[in-house]
This record gives sequence, C-alpha cells and structure tokens, in this order.
Amino acid sequence: MSDLDGLPTDDATIRALDRRHVFHSWSAQALIDPLPIASAEGSYFTDYEGRRYLDFSSQLVNANLGYSHPRMVAAIAEYARRFTTLSPTFANDARSEAARLIAEIAPGSLNQVFFTNAGAEANENAFRIARLHTGRPKILATYRSYHGATHGSIAATGDPRRWGTEPMAMPGVVHFWGPYPYRSPFFSDSPEQESERALAHLRDTIMVEGAGTIAGIVLEPVVGTNGILVPPPGYLAGVRALCDEFGIVLISDEVMAGFGRCGEWFAVDHWGVVPDLITFAKGVNSGYVPLGGVVISDEIAATFAERAYPGGLTYSGHPLACASAVASIRIFTDEGILEHVRTLGEQVVGPELEKLAARHPSVGEVRGLGLFWALELVRDRATREPLVPFNAGGAAAAPMNEFAAACKQGGLWPFTHFNRTHVVPPLTVTADELHEGFAVLDAALDVADRHCTGA
Ligand code: PLP
Repeated sequence: MSDLDGLPTDDATIRALDRRHVFHSWSAQALIDPLPIASAEGSYFTDYEGRRYLDFSSQLVNANLGYSHPRMVAAIAEYARRFTTLSPTFANDARSEAARLIAEIAPGSLNQVFFTNAGAEANENAFRIARLHTGRPKILATYRSYHGATHGSIAATGDPRRWGTEPMAMPGVVHFWGPYPYRSPFFSDSPEQESERALAHLRDTIMVEGAGTIAGIVLEPVVGTNGILVPPPGYLAGVRALCDEFGIVLISDEVMAGFGRCGEWFAVDHWGVVPDLITFAKGVNSGYVPLGGVVISDEIAATFAERAYPGGLTYSGHPLACASAVASIRIFTDEGILEHVRTLGEQVVGPELEKLAARHPSVGEVRGLGLFWALELVRDRATREPLVPFNAGGAAAAPMNEFAAACKQGGLWPFTHFNRTHVVPPLTVTADELHEGFAVLDAALDVADRHCTGA
C-alpha cells in the first residue's frame, strides 16, 4: 500500500486530466496536447504506447546525467530519509558541502553561493547583487539570449519571450548585439574581426548609456537556446576588460552552458575568463530536484559582510536539492564526464554533423563544442535565408514542424528553435547512441531539404 497507489496509468486518462487541470508554460492552453511519458532511463524516455525516444534535447538541456542515474536516485532516497525540508536560517551538511564543491570548481575567487530554485531566480538575484554592489541601476544584456521568466530575468531576455511582458518588465535593461559570425550584424569576414567589431559596439553602448549608470553586463558565454553561438576568439576576454575599465560587474549566465555541457565545469573556463558572478541551475544536479544559484566573488560578497543582503527564498539551499548536487558533482568526477563530453564533441559529434552538412543542402552551418551543437537550417546556402522566418508560427513554421515530426517518427526527440535543431543529448550519452541519433537526423533532413530553393 502506497500513497501513490491509484495514480493514472494510461495515456488517455493522463492526457484528459492534464488538459482539464494543468496550465502549461508558454502555451495557448487549448492548442496543445502534451505527450504523457511513462518512464525514462539513460538517454531514452518511453511513452505509454511503448514508443522509446532517444533524447537529443536532455529535456530542456538540463538532464545532463541522463535519466534515473542509479547513484543520483540512491543519494536522493538516502537524504530524503534524513531531511526533506529545512529553512535557510539553519546550517545544513548537504548545503555546506554543495557550496564548497561549487566554489572549488568555480574559477577565480568565486567562493560563496546563494542558492535558488532555478535559473530565472539566479539571474534575478545576480542583478540585485550587481546593483547593490555598484550602486548603479542598469543591466546590459544581449538580444540573442534567454535569462528566465521572472520580472528581471525576462526583462534581460533578448528573445521574443520577453515581448508578452513588456512594458511591465523590470526597467533599466539595455540590449546590445553579441557576436554571431554566421549572421553578423557587424559584417565581418574573420572571427577576430567579428570580435573586435562586437566589442566596439559594446563600448559604444556603454558610452552612450553612461558607464556610471551600468551595474552589470549579463551574457551567456555560449548562447544556448538562441543559437549555440560560440564566441569568437577574444570576445569574452574583451567584455571582461570593458567591465574592468568601467567598474561593471560581469555576470556569466551558465544556466545552460555550465556543468559540463561545453566540456568544462563552466563555459568561461574554455577562454580562461573569470566573471564576478556566475549563475547556474539545470546541469548542477540534472534537474532531479529543482536547484539553481549565484556563485559570488569574494570582493562582491564583502559588500554584504556588514550590510544585510535584501533577498531570500524559503527554499534557498533546499537540503534535498543540495544533496543531489553533491552527488552529481561527485558522479561527474568519478565518471570522467568532462573528458567524455570533450572526446565525444571532438571525435564524434563535430565530424558526424559535418558529414550531414555535406549531404544536405538545408544545413547552412554546423557549430558547437562539447555536447552543445546546432545545425542552422536554411532554404538557400548562398543567401543563408533561414528555413523558416524569425519567430515563425502557424503555416510559416511548417518546414521545421515537419522536420521535428520526422525525428520523432524515427524515435529521436529533437530540440528545435526557430530555424535550428540543436544536438544537446545527456552528457552520459554513448557514441553508439549518438550514431543512432544521427541516422534519424539524416532521414529527417531529407524532409528539410525539400524546402530548399537554392541550387
Ligand atoms: N538562463 C539560461 C541561459 C537558460 O537557458 C534558462 C532556461 O532555459 C534560464 C536562464 C532560466 O532558467 P529556469 O527556467 O530554470 O528558470
């Protein structure tokens, strides 16, 4: 006898209850029909009809250790027997150890952690910390970004998900353009020049906004949902230098790019750049229990040594979530996850995606690193016209919807956004599983090719 006895066990009942009672994110409620999922293990999940999907999305790019990792499940069950709830006013073994481990893997002197429930709250608090530390009001953020759906995080978000909240979102955010060599607003023909021009644009933005009004610059070091945009050489170091020159706090939003996704603990480690604040969530514990946070430099933490930090959350440092983060970081180390990601990225994903690009005219560009890759799908390679227009919906989005449907038909769950498909499987994925997924992508790209108009 269990208190979970009687949960619905069939597809139809779960769907019906969902449609009647569950209000879903980002959706017109009457136009969706979410697929009920029965179980998940490793890199796969299975629906109630017994169809198994290889997950090339890691859910929302968070299931970094895959599903039902036995050590994660055991650690959560073990800790649940001790504490499932404890307020942030107490100290707690799992929280202390999770913070110590995160400080240990974070670069530079980022030694303190403010825990949140997820990524949006992490950015929300990073903005508050930057504003209080500098005494300045503004946050600069890139147009091609997503930072979360709370008041400040959605204001900082550059993509169209911000539109529905305007003009009520947090005031004081100014957007600028980060580099994007394939579709550059800076018209460069070399990555170095792209960096220089993007940095010149940022310097101009700082000048006209007034350096003395800017508390922080937030950016995703490798832009995630908005395109897997790997910064060209020198860009992140250049942003760091501008922040130093003008006394601006550099906030690296590593919610998606961090915790191994790029083959390093944090994406900034690739370029040896040390931010003042790092925000994290998702991969910190693969979402087995909700958790996020801000890693804070010693210098900024000192601002709040004698002055109270005016922010908090009932679940800041939730013991069960922190225990799962401890387990996750130990598993990463014991299983050599970072090396595995680097090897697969360099030896399997990059070369295999290039082969797909050579076969399919709809692939305009392949880019990425670690297990964080994108195929940019186009109608015409010469003009780079996207397969579907920016933020397309309805009939205009049909080519991407057909592509995604072909992937699912073949047993692959893709991550699609605008005219791109991202390859973002669990970091525990095997080379064989990747090859299985690429075979499905190969067939699905035939569907995209049919929309090509170029020679
Ligand atoms: N920052 C980045 C880069 C993200 O990708 C996301 C979510 O996708 C967030 C912040 C928001 O995180 P959450 O949905 O956990 O609030």
